[in-house]
Amino acid sequence: MEVVCLDLEGVLVPEIWINFAERTGIEELKATTRDIPDYDVLMKQRLSILDEHNLGMKDIQEVIDDMGPMEGARDFLGWLQANFQVVILSDTFYEFAEPLMRQLDWPTLFCHRLEVNEQGKVANYHLRMKNHKREAVVRFQELNFHTIAAGDSYNDTHMLNQANQGILFKAPDNVINEFPQFPVTNSYEELKAEICKSSPRF
Ligand SMILES: [Mg+2]
Repeated sequence: MEVVCLDLEGVLVPEIWINFAERTGIEELKATTRDIPDYDVLMKQRLSILDEHNLGMKDIQEVIDDMGPMEGARDFLGWLQANFQVVILSDTFYEFAEPLMRQLDWPTLFCHRLEVNEQGKVANYHLRMKNHKREAVVRFQELNFHTIAAGDSYNDTHMLNQANQGILFKAPDNVINEFPQFPVTNSYEELKAEICKSSPRF
């Protein structure tokens, strides 16, 4: 029996912060874990930029409402759920993901929570657990699940290393070069083929 663990941003939905940066014109908000591998440094930078520009949760959620999943993501996820157990492991926050999860028919999502103050500003972020993507894979394996994981970025590489099979999806060159042990896929068709190759049932 297999569990497929998927990253969210860059795999099923666009990068939320990049979309937000484009709409508001704040270039510094385009940085992602692709650019700054230390997630805490990245998040503190994002929160201080939001504060500087007097932007609150409502502004962010308006952008996310209009984003929608990546082209083909809904069909891919439907196929995957019909053939495997699927859990999305993301370093985003439930408050950001909700409009997108609705458009993907509410798949299982493990991520984090934001703290919003009375003024509607994002006051802080709370990680449910450090390195939770890898920890989740360890737990699935303890439950005797053969675990296949796919992601696009630095924050996925511990999960990909721990999984029985890790797969890169639309990853940038620096990640591909640093982690040559993982097969590289660039479309949902290629990802499907690689997942099936990793499954003892296909
Ligand atoms: Mg990602």
